[in-house]
Amino acid sequence: MSKKLVGAHVSAAGGVQNAPLRAKEIGARAFGLFVKNQRQWSAHPLAEAEISAFRENCVQAGFDPSSILPHDGYLINLGNPDPEGLERSRKAFLDEMRRCEQLGLRLLNFHPGSHKGLVPAEACLNLVGDSINLALNETRCVTAVIENTAGQGGSVGRTFEEIAAIIERVEDKSRVGVCLDTCHLFAAGYDLRSRETYEATFSAFEKAVGLGYLRGMHLNDSKSALGSRVDRHHSLGEGELGFETFRLIMNDPRTDGIPLILETIDESLWEREIALLYGFERGR
Ligand SMILES: [Zn+2]
Ligand SMILES: [Zn+2]
Repeated sequence: MSKKLVGAHVSAAGGVQNAPLRAKEIGARAFGLFVKNQRQWSAHPLAEAEISAFRENCVQAGFDPSSILPHDGYLINLGNPDPEGLERSRKAFLDEMRRCEQLGLRLLNFHPGSHKGLVPAEACLNLVGDSINLALNETRCVTAVIENTAGQGGSVGRTFEEIAAIIERVEDKSRVGVCLDTCHLFAAGYDLRSRETYEATFSAFEKAVGLGYLRGMHLNDSKSALGSRVDRHHSLGEGELGFETFRLIMNDPRTDGIPLILETIDESLWEREIALLYGFERGR
């Protein structure tokens, strides 16, 4: 049995309980989802029935919490230099952490934030770290999983050093982790297209952050060029990265046992992409 937990970011339309069923349908062994509408600030609390149906469907479809990587909403900016915006983001993030806890989930993946050109990156990184501390103090078992960014606009978390600076500020290191998005890595200037560049990128991550923090990956090809700082996902093999990157990931023991989630642009291809990825594995 493969040690790889490959899946996709599936829709939670009609209720979160539908997500594990959709994931199972496409042959996934992991999945991502939004635990509330990703484009709105507020949402109704999760209903008891929804929570129990989600938990039951996860068990029936064979998804352990370690294979589920929820993603936070797009409006949240935990490094917002504007105090009002920061407060609103922190509240919304805490609400998402609590929803994860209710659902029995252990991870919450989020984009660290943006300085919006108003403060230096360092000040923004400190705000992100403080925001994580606040959320962890109010919750018990969810890990805050920082996603690396393409560095688009004023977003922080493009370099491994920036991610390390956030982690440095987090008090409970056991509940902070990292999700590496292959498209964001590439757009940020970290090459992954050959064994040599792939190894160099992973060594740089190990040196700056530490592989122990790696809690998941997003598997996306990239429409934009190396170092372009433009975040544009593509279907596997159709972008600048090409299949070799994903072949390397599927044969790398460092990515065993963590959710590997597709956020590629054509969801009608997910089932084939998942099968393709498992096909890349050589007998280890
Ligand atoms: Zn991503
Ligand atoms: Zn992206």
